[in-house]
Amino acid sequence: MRIKPFLPKVWQPALPPLVKTFCAPTGGNDTKIAGPGEGSSKPKRGKRQKQRDEQGVQWIGDKTVADVVEAIIGAAYLSKDRDLALWVSKRLKVSLPKVNQWSDLRSMYVVPTGLPAIEVSPKTISGVEKIVRFKFQKTDVLAEALTHGSKQQTLGYDRLEFLGDAILDFYVVKHVFERYPHLSSGGLSMLKSAMVINTSLAAFCVISGLDQYVQYTSTDMQQSFKAYSDKIKALHLQELQLAKEEGRQPGQFWLEIPAPKVLSDVVESVLGALFVSEGFSETGTDAFFYGALQPFLDEYVRMQTLSHHPSIGLYEWFQGEGCQEHQIVKSSEGNQTECKVIVHDVILASAMDPAPTTARRLAASYALDALEGDPLFMSKVCDCRANKASKKLQKKVLGYEDDEDDAVS
Ligand SMILES: [Zn+2]
Repeated sequence: MRIKPFLPKVWQPALPPLVKTFCAPTGGNDTKIAGPGEGSSKPKRGKRQKQRDEQGVQWIGDKTVADVVEAIIGAAYLSKDRDLALWVSKRLKVSLPKVNQWSDLRSMYVVPTGLPAIEVSPKTISGVEKIVRFKFQKTDVLAEALTHGSKQQTLGYDRLEFLGDAILDFYVVKHVFERYPHLSSGGLSMLKSAMVINTSLAAFCVISGLDQYVQYTSTDMQQSFKAYSDKIKALHLQELQLAKEEGRQPGQFWLEIPAPKVLSDVVESVLGALFVSEGFSETGTDAFFYGALQPFLDEYVRMQTLSHHPSIGLYEWFQGEGCQEHQIVKSSEGNQTECKVIVHDVILASAMDPAPTTARRLAASYALDALEGDPLFMSKVCDCRANKASKKLQKKVLGYEDDEDDAVS
């Protein structure tokens, strides 16, 4: 593990030091994990002296160690498969008792007993199978996944939803990781959150038609589902129409309205049910995610759609990238306002419009397009991560938010 930058000024060959120091340097490439209070009782030294003394020593926090363990497991998964990832996890002493291969999970699954079996109609089963593009081996597990706990004395979907939530995270992380090979972890995390959030899954539930098969008894629930479903379908059509007129791709039409949690839970519980039904293997979940969920998410969630206002989306994107040297510069010419998005002295995008708010919105939107079209742009112009000392600046000072004078849209 390396956490220190190379400092040419204090580098010296690995020889015994010529000048004796009162605090003996530690030789070799020792890596120490900082303990509580450690290193605080030493006599005071100058900065250069301190750097020289600690040249061969790294103080590594628990969080960094944990991150590196996770990164190694990720590397194992990417370099081969999930079997290697499990093997590496075990070697790194990640506690997974009784699981030596993935199939060991199968024998640990206990079918809950003592509760009446949930009945669902053959029509429901075939309807869901069409949506998930897969045939269930165990239709009782599907019945459990579709049933809300409000149906008395039956088992609800909660356990399967818990499992499906983790499975969905796994698929989405893998997907954005592959789709955006140059995006930083901050940017990937923003995209992932936008995809797995309750509102986007509930919208999928309605648009795919899965909501029709949810089993519940409450009439309040029925009303709230109906109201949500009507609204989201209308917003969907409206967004498709607008996108067509504006010659752009459609965005996240579900952001405006709150979604009933049950509808997003069911998407996850059905994923969980597919995994269990297939004996803890991915054949069914692969079919559902790649055949239905991913195409839906890809159509509506992109970097450009992460926020209502592209300028805020752009600002968040730069934050995610760890970049501090970016701004939207506004200038007026006659009755036109021009906005330029400048990153480290490079003009990334610009737009002109009589309304300053529109000019900024367009410039930010073009900038996001440009960033997607040139994934190496940031690595070419930005050195902020290497230069963490740069100070934090506020959104407003940098031109991402309205001044009082152009707060009209
Ligand atoms: Zn930067």
